[in-house]
Amino acid sequence: MNLENFEHIYNDQRSQIKDKPMLQEELSKILGKDNVSCKEIDLLAYSSDSTLISLNWMIEGKIAALPDLVVWPETTEQISAVLKVANEFKIPIVPYAEGSGVVGGAIPVFGGIILDMKKFNNVLEINDKNLTVTVEAGTNGMNLERILNTRGYTCGHIPQSIYTSSVGGWIAHRAAGQFSTKYGKIEDIVIGLEVVLPQGEIVRFKTTARASTGPQLDKLFLGNEGTLGIVTQATLKIWPYPEKRALISYAFPSIIEALESCRLILRKMVFPGVIRIYDQAETSRHFEHVENAKEKVMVVFVCEGNSNLVDLEQSIVSEICNSMSGVDCGKEPVEHWFETRFKVKESSMFPPYKIVADTIEVAVMWDKAVELYLSVVEATSKISGNVLISAHVSHFYPNGVGYYFTFGGVPPKGTSEFEFYQECWNITIKAALDAGGSFGHHHGVGINRSKWMENEWGAVGLETLRKIKMIFDPNNILNPGKVFENLWRKKGDEN
Ligand SMILES: Cc1cc2nc3c(=O)[nH]c(=O)nc-3n(C[C@H](O)[C@H](O)[C@H](O)COP(=O)(O)OP(=O)(O)OC[C@H]3O[C@@H](n4cnc5c(N)ncnc54)[C@H](O)[C@@H]3O)c2cc1C
Repeated sequence: MNLENFEHIYNDQRSQIKDKPMLQEELSKILGKDNVSCKEIDLLAYSSDSTLISLNWMIEGKIAALPDLVVWPETTEQISAVLKVANEFKIPIVPYAEGSGVVGGAIPVFGGIILDMKKFNNVLEINDKNLTVTVEAGTNGMNLERILNTRGYTCGHIPQSIYTSSVGGWIAHRAAGQFSTKYGKIEDIVIGLEVVLPQGEIVRFKTTARASTGPQLDKLFLGNEGTLGIVTQATLKIWPYPEKRALISYAFPSIIEALESCRLILRKMVFPGVIRIYDQAETSRHFEHVENAKEKVMVVFVCEGNSNLVDLEQSIVSEICNSMSGVDCGKEPVEHWFETRFKVKESSMFPPYKIVADTIEVAVMWDKAVELYLSVVEATSKISGNVLISAHVSHFYPNGVGYYFTFGGVPPKGTSEFEFYQECWNITIKAALDAGGSFGHHHGVGINRSKWMENEWGAVGLETLRKIKMIFDPNNILNPGKVFENLWRKKGDEN
C-alpha cells in the first residue's frame, strides 16, 4: 500500500524534505531510534485529529493530511533540540497529544514532523497546602483525575473528552469542562507553565497565586494551539473532593424561561458545578423517558462542595426555577446524565451512512442569548440537505453563556461532503456573529475557524497576533496553517 496514492484533502502543499534519511538520523541521535518513525502505519495514525468530517474521509479512503515523520520525545531538552533541527531543515512540527481536537488543530497540513507528547505523562507533585498539582503536559486527563481522586482531590476540569485528551491539549485549546461554572475553564485553573519556544528556548513561568509583574506573557500560551510554543509542564489548581452533591433537574416550557432561571441563579452568585440546558430537540433525544419533560426544555444542575453550602444553593436554585414555571423532575435525569455523559457513539454512527455532522460551540452575552439561539436554528434549518439542528447550553457566566450546536445532513446532489460541511459551518458562524456572539467558546480555532479570526479580533488585532507569531517563530515551524492562516479560503471558499 502506498499512502501517497490516496487523495490527501489538505497537504497538496506538503513541504519537500530534501534529505529525509539525514533528518531521520539527526532526530534519532536526539531521541533514540525507537522514538522516531517513518512507518506508513504510524504516518496514517497521525493523519488526523477527531474532526468529525475526517471520519467520512477515512471511510472513503481519503487522508486528511500525512506527516513525514513521527517522534516521541521524553524530555523538555529533547523537544528543544528537535525544534532546533526543524529550524535548520525548515520543516513543520505539529505537536500532537491525544488527537481529540475537533477543529483540525493537530492535522499536519504541510506534512513535517508530528511531535507526540504521550511520553510526558507523569504527575510530578501534589501540594496540599497550596492546593496545586504539577503535571507533565502529555498526561491523560482521566489518569490525572483518578490520581487526584484517590488522594482526596479533584481538578474540577472534566471535559467530555477527559478519557482521550491531555493537559497540554486543554491548555493549547483553552478547553472547558462540564463542571466549569464552579471550577472555571482551563485558563482559570493553570497557574504555572513550562514551554519550549519555536526556536528551542525553554521558558519556565513562575507558579504564583497572582502577579502584577507587567504583561502576562504566560497567558499567550493558553490557546496558542501549538503555534507559539510546546507546553511541557503545568501547575494546576486542585480542590478537596466535594463533600456533598445535590442533583437537581427542572423542565421549562421553552428555552427562554430556562435561560432566564440560570441567569437569575448566577446573579445571586450561586455557582452550581454543572448547569446544562437542553433545547426541545435535545430534551426529546436525551430525556425521552422523563414524562414531565415531554415537549419541554430540560435543565440539569449539580451543586457540590461543602454540605451546608450545597443545601443552601439547592434551595436557591429550586426557588428560582419554581418561580419561572419550571417543573421539578427530581434527581433521576441528573443520574441519567452522569451515566451517559461520556457516550458519543452517535457521532461515529453517521459517516457510514454518508451523513455529515458536526458540533459548533459559540459564546454570547446574556442580552443576546435568546436571539443568537433563534437565529442559528433558523439559518441552519434552511441549508439544503441539513436535517438536524439542535443545541444545549453547557457553560454559564454571570455575563453570558456558551452554546453547543449540533448539525447533520446529507449533501444535496452536486455538492461534495466537504462543501456541505463548510456551508453548515459558514452559516452557523455567520448567524452567531450577526447576533452578536463570538465564533468559538472552547474547541479552539484550528483550521475550521481561522477564516473568522479577523471578525473576532479586527484587522489590527489579527495583524498584531500575526506579528507576535513571526517574532516567536520566524521560520513558521510550529503548526503552520492553523489559527493565523486561512486554508479554507485557499481551497476556493469565498464566504
Ligand atoms: C467526544 C469529544 C468530546 C469533547 N469534549 C470537549 C469538552 O467537553 N470540552 C472541551 O474543551 N473540548 C472538548 N473536546 C475537544 C478536545 O477534546 C479538546 O480540544 C482537547 O483540549 C484536545 O486535547 P488533546 O490532548 O486531544 O489535543 P490534540 O487534539 O492532540 O491537540 C489539539 C491542539 O493542541 C496542540 N497541542 C497538543 N498538545 C500540546 C502541547 N503540549 N503544547 C502545545 N500545543 C499542543 C496540537 O498541536 C493541536 O493544535 C471534545 C472532543 C471530542 C472528540
